[in-house]
Amino acid sequence: MKKVLSWALILSLCLCLLSASALADGTYTPGTYTGESSGHDAGLTVTVTVDENSITDVKVDVSNETPEIGGKAGPKLEAQILEAQSTEIDGVTGATETSDGACRALSAALAQAQGNTPGSEKEPVQDGTFTGTAPGFGLTGQMTCEVTFKDGAITDIQVVEETDSATGEWFANAEELLIPRLLEAQSLGVDAITGATASSNGIKNCVARAIDAAGGKSNQWYLPVEKSKETVTIEDYDVIVVGLGGSGVLSYCAAADQGASVFGIEAAGKIGGNSVCTYGPMALNSEYLKNLFNDGKDYINPDEVYDVWIDYVGSEDKADIIHEAVYSSGTSLDYYVENFGFEFEGRGLLGSFVVPSWDKEWCVYSADPVTGWNILGPNKTFQFTRAMELAKSKNEKNDFMTELRAEKLIFDDAGKVIGVEARYYDGTTYEIYGDTVILATGGFMGDPEMMLEVYGSTINYMGDTVNDGTGIRMGQSAGGATYALKTMPMVHISQVANLIRTDDLTPDQKAVLTALALTTDVPEVTTEGEAWGNTNLSGTVDEKVSVEIVFAPNFMYYNIYTQDDIDNIRENGLSEAQAGATSMFLSQGGTLPEAGTPVADIDEILAVGAEFGDVLIAENLKALAAAIGCDEQTLSDTLGGVDTVYYAVPCTSWCYGTVGGLDVDINMNVLREDGTPIENLFAVGQDSEGVCNVDGKAYTPWGGQAQSWTFVSGKIAGTAAAAYAAK
Ligand SMILES: Cc1cc2nc3c(=O)[nH]c(=O)nc-3n(C[C@H](O)[C@H](O)[C@H](O)COP(=O)(O)OP(=O)(O)OC[C@H]3O[C@@H](n4cnc5c(N)ncnc54)[C@H](O)[C@@H]3O)c2cc1C
Repeated sequence: MKKVLSWALILSLCLCLLSASALADGTYTPGTYTGESSGHDAGLTVTVTVDENSITDVKVDVSNETPEIGGKAGPKLEAQILEAQSTEIDGVTGATETSDGACRALSAALAQAQGNTPGSEKEPVQDGTFTGTAPGFGLTGQMTCEVTFKDGAITDIQVVEETDSATGEWFANAEELLIPRLLEAQSLGVDAITGATASSNGIKNCVARAIDAAGGKSNQWYLPVEKSKETVTIEDYDVIVVGLGGSGVLSYCAAADQGASVFGIEAAGKIGGNSVCTYGPMALNSEYLKNLFNDGKDYINPDEVYDVWIDYVGSEDKADIIHEAVYSSGTSLDYYVENFGFEFEGRGLLGSFVVPSWDKEWCVYSADPVTGWNILGPNKTFQFTRAMELAKSKNEKNDFMTELRAEKLIFDDAGKVIGVEARYYDGTTYEIYGDTVILATGGFMGDPEMMLEVYGSTINYMGDTVNDGTGIRMGQSAGGATYALKTMPMVHISQVANLIRTDDLTPDQKAVLTALALTTDVPEVTTEGEAWGNTNLSGTVDEKVSVEIVFAPNFMYYNIYTQDDIDNIRENGLSEAQAGATSMFLSQGGTLPEAGTPVADIDEILAVGAEFGDVLIAENLKALAAAIGCDEQTLSDTLGGVDTVYYAVPCTSWCYGTVGGLDVDINMNVLREDGTPIENLFAVGQDSEGVCNVDGKAYTPWGGQAQSWTFVSGKIAGTAAAAYAAK
């Protein structure tokens, strides 16, 4: 518990610093303010106490809510609000109306704290175009917007500079959806676009700064935006697919191909999920790939892959499913190429990460011919969009919605699944009824509570945090069991604990900070103060830094430097190992000095790093143990008892997604604890990938296996759900 607390402390410290730095000085008038809102039942209030720049205390009064639903959510919401310092909270699963209500009430309270109530006069803004700059999602630079004002209103917002789109296609989604909503509401209180939160907040913060530059007071522009209380009912679908990332789209396609009527529910502002970040899937001896890259000949021995796989998981419990994952990987890919236009070329056939003799094992999507590649791989949302349009056209009833978040399954009186309840971004509730439901929500990385429960620690993420375990919980609510939930989350990347997206350090300085976190030639210490790395790991340095870090307690460890080490770097530069330590994918674009070149600004780098929670500076061993939150004697033993000034630089895992999920059978039917199938409920992709894996080990690390499972499981589930509905 101690180690979790110390890590949580760093994170929350950093969040506070980031929020504080994102807000202008004197954002609030210190005091206590209360906002009211409707909730699930009679309504709730949120009372905040603020100082000039932050929320110091919050009370969410849910005493009027139904005890079993919203009544238990109060303390969780309070903790989330204090951590986020804003309305950008995850909310409490199963108490969405209460959570949404708390956000509205919080907005109203903060509006008062900012001297802003509906109808109150705002400080006037000048007519003209003004510029605002703020961090977005981009790793290598900030975002700049030009905002035009006329007669006290915002009439235009143009993003003129950004690096967010270098990491993928989410920024475009935020730009397209958010800006019209900001203009219409004339309020910075509009919700961020789901799946593109950092880009959305970047735009909102740029606009806030432009308001200030125009002579206004941005803190008066956070008026709460009213939510709809309507309920819409949609009926008579054969198949409902929850989540339209890779496995959801592929399930949707397969079900539509069988003639089923299909409705798709996607929480984000666009379809594709994490699947559009990938290079591509494993596909063994696909006819299409053989013809494209191997003169029509087989390129791998599937029997060997199957044997290695069974050996890796150490059990034949799910041998039938693993058999399918191996022998249908190529044919599944061929099916989607032939019927739904998927294309693969990129860099040809790639070799396995771990078995050198499998030199052709997985493949790379073709990139969008217009936008090409981003730093995560080929832009490929167009392939998923095209497939969805094709699938939709197969039955005039077929439809799907984005920005619609599924919340729970609907049951009939006998306990049979009959539909899904979901919430649109504008607050409207949707009740969607159908014969079968396929859960495809991409695992639980985005739910810190579930991460804590399963792994004892949260994790830094570079994947989609919309994927918050909703699908798994929906399956459990129907009596579904889980399988290998503790398979280690997908990590190939390590980096500093908190990416600094502001200009407080130059890109070159950020590269030095990264090198200090990633290098392997200094003592590496766990959150318990024990030695990690140099002495206790097998494998190459690359494996250690990029894969094995996931096994470090709390998915992190500290690189420890003494004052002498730092003095040495200032005068004699980085070592060879340090000068070669860069982060795959999460590089922030700077260049490291060559080994031996003095780093004169090392103290500035460490001081800024400390402000962001990337460096712990301790005046002696005792203080270092306290900062890490470990036993002093253990740490002293690890560091040889040297008492000096220390600098601890956290090196953390950056995660793509979780792996373990619901237990399923060969049809992707969710299984109960007793092994019987819930016949009209299916789970695919990351919501069921535990069945190919094993608790406590890295997910089957062949290369492209996770994405392959979206093809294999999607095809099976879509076909089986359509067949069930046709009975
Ligand atoms: C940067 C990166 C690179 C990767 N590279 C590779 C690779 O090269 N090869 C490989 O095999 N794997 C790779 N992976 C892993 C791979 O992306 C995943 O294993 C795969 O995408 C999982 O597919 P999925 O359908 O389960 O999840 P996703 O594709 O993430 O789809 C889940 C969808 O569900 C939606 N959703 C979540 N909750 C709800 C809700 N309550 N209601 C409605 N919708 C909801 C999400 O918005 C999302 O669209 C990579 C992942 C990342 C992040």
